[in-house]
Amino acid sequence: MNTRVENIGRETTAAAETLASLVEYSRLLGSDESLVLRGGGNTSVKFTLTDFAGRPTPVLCIKGSGSDLAQVQKKDFTSLRLEELLLLRELNDMPDEAMVEYCTHCKLDPGAPRPSIETLLHAFLPHESVFHSHADAILALTNTVHPGQLLHEVYGGSVAIARYRRPGFLLSKEVADLASESGAVAVVLLNHGLVTWGTTAADAYGMHMELVQQAKEFALWRSGARVFVAEIEISTESERRQAAAALAPVIRGQLCSDRHFVLTYDDAPETLAFAGSRAARAASRFGAATPDHILTTGVRPLWIDVAAEDTATGVAAAFEQYRAEHRAYVQRWRTTEPLVSDDPRIILVPGIGLFAAGRSIGQARLAQRIYRHTMDIVEKAESLGGYRSLDENAAFSAEHWPLELYKLSLAPRDRELAGHVALVTGAGSGIGRATALKLAEAGAHVVITDADHAAAEQTASLLLEHDQSAACSFHAMDVTAEANVEAVFARVCLEFGGVDIVVSNAGVAHCAPIEQLRISDWEQSLRVNATGHLLVTQAAMRLFRRQNSGGNIVFVGSKNVLAAGAGFAAYSAAKAAEAQLARVAAIEGGPLGVRVNVVNPDAVFGGTHLWDDIRESRARTHGVEAAQIEVYYRNRSLLGVEVRPQDVAEAILFLASERASRTTGCMLPVDAGVREAFAR
Ligand code: ZN
Repeated sequence: MNTRVENIGRETTAAAETLASLVEYSRLLGSDESLVLRGGGNTSVKFTLTDFAGRPTPVLCIKGSGSDLAQVQKKDFTSLRLEELLLLRELNDMPDEAMVEYCTHCKLDPGAPRPSIETLLHAFLPHESVFHSHADAILALTNTVHPGQLLHEVYGGSVAIARYRRPGFLLSKEVADLASESGAVAVVLLNHGLVTWGTTAADAYGMHMELVQQAKEFALWRSGARVFVAEIEISTESERRQAAAALAPVIRGQLCSDRHFVLTYDDAPETLAFAGSRAARAASRFGAATPDHILTTGVRPLWIDVAAEDTATGVAAAFEQYRAEHRAYVQRWRTTEPLVSDDPRIILVPGIGLFAAGRSIGQARLAQRIYRHTMDIVEKAESLGGYRSLDENAAFSAEHWPLELYKLSLAPRDRELAGHVALVTGAGSGIGRATALKLAEAGAHVVITDADHAAAEQTASLLLEHDQSAACSFHAMDVTAEANVEAVFARVCLEFGGVDIVVSNAGVAHCAPIEQLRISDWEQSLRVNATGHLLVTQAAMRLFRRQNSGGNIVFVGSKNVLAAGAGFAAYSAAKAAEAQLARVAAIEGGPLGVRVNVVNPDAVFGGTHLWDDIRESRARTHGVEAAQIEVYYRNRSLLGVEVRPQDVAEAILFLASERASRTTGCMLPVDAGVREAFAR
């Protein structure tokens, strides 16, 4: 064990036990999503540690800002000198920045994480342990027309109530005052959550669970039947998903103007009921449930009514109206804070379901999960007399609050292809596999396709081995089967919302002198190496047109296109067709902002099956031993070096990225220099 707390604190056995118990009960609280959302909620204990000079020091040990309670560890907690924190109790007010700076000075270990923004709330309460959550069941009571009345019905006078104010100094003082009221066992913060306490973490947690359970039982007893029912005909699952797959890129295109986003799709029965209900739509106008919710899902969702005749125009109009309303809202409340994006994070479509947007699939999934909780809170609150939330000014200041935004700043910096989706064909081995890994490394969400399902899966697990946070999916896709190609593109639209980059790589090699070339082999080569590229290009171009945010196709061609070799007729002719297809695609794609380029590799051996069948015959053609073929090709090149799959992947990344933003219709050789294949 070598955590900060232990090194600096050098705590006694009793202190170590207290800390272990805090971690244990914090994790329990965090394990229930209906209590805390990722990064939200916080817990603390007060006890004595030894400081760096060996003095026993009373501390408040509290969760760091932004860490996730579900997986919290000792190192995620920060110990602050309690006596110094309590000096602040005498002040009338204190600006946020000063409070953060003061807390920094109180840290026992200067390297510990920034303490929670609710640190003073915990410090000012006299109790040994304090637990705070944003429990759904409590919010269903507080986010209503008459919260005080409901809370009284549930708890009698045993909980004190704090009206909504943004977390900070004043709220901390107010909660401490309320807690000292006789008989109060907890404080409920309107439009925010619950604070409980006890002499141990177990006590504070126990009281938390008891009060949440009472709220749940009350709501169940009072409401009963579902409030939100879809007033629109819900189609069959397959029809609905087909429509959603067509709609997702249109929505995504609206979001991907300067930055790229991915979308998740949710059509669970509760989501469909919410999305199709006029009452839900009206209630959602009151905004997100708490400041914490706003941070991930935005203040309000965007509702889109899809008219089948002209989806693109309908979606564009809905976005335009949303942005106009959002700009007006910002104008009304803006003081000096910078503008947060005016685009929605949650999009609801009656009859279709919900789309959630994020810069990564993880972010989008989080927004989706949080909105699921929001829908539940809104529905329960409606059944308890009507959902209400923060007023507009409070919502704005929560949305633009630097201390909350700090949580977002903890996320790793965006990589080059963040928010992009890249589909690679033939990604089960060789160049395709290396490309999938390379694009994922650059931050793209990678769709790994291969005719061999197991090989695609293997690439996916290799990718995740490299980087656990990588986002990918894998599909069996035979590029010569039109319906299969279309189905995979549709699936990807439901997985990620659309596609930005297509690497058309799948190919087969065939060797035979013309006189001995069997027609079936010739046709097979044309089917995979020419028609396969056409089918993938068609699906890509149709999708890019719907998405209307540009696009990118990189074809993996061959040195043979420019310099054919004897005995390679079926391959070379089909590859020439592919090259010509790429040129036409560049011409047709230009007006759509779609760039199309080709890489021409030569003699790539590592990790590819391409050579399995042709090694012998190519060696014969060149008059060398089969085992010597790598050496032969290497020596033939101008640079005298081997060409590896990752060299080709590097060239593909360049063409697929913004670094090549002014390049289309280009052929880039990756062949270590073959003079016969110089472009001319
Ligand atoms: Zn809170």
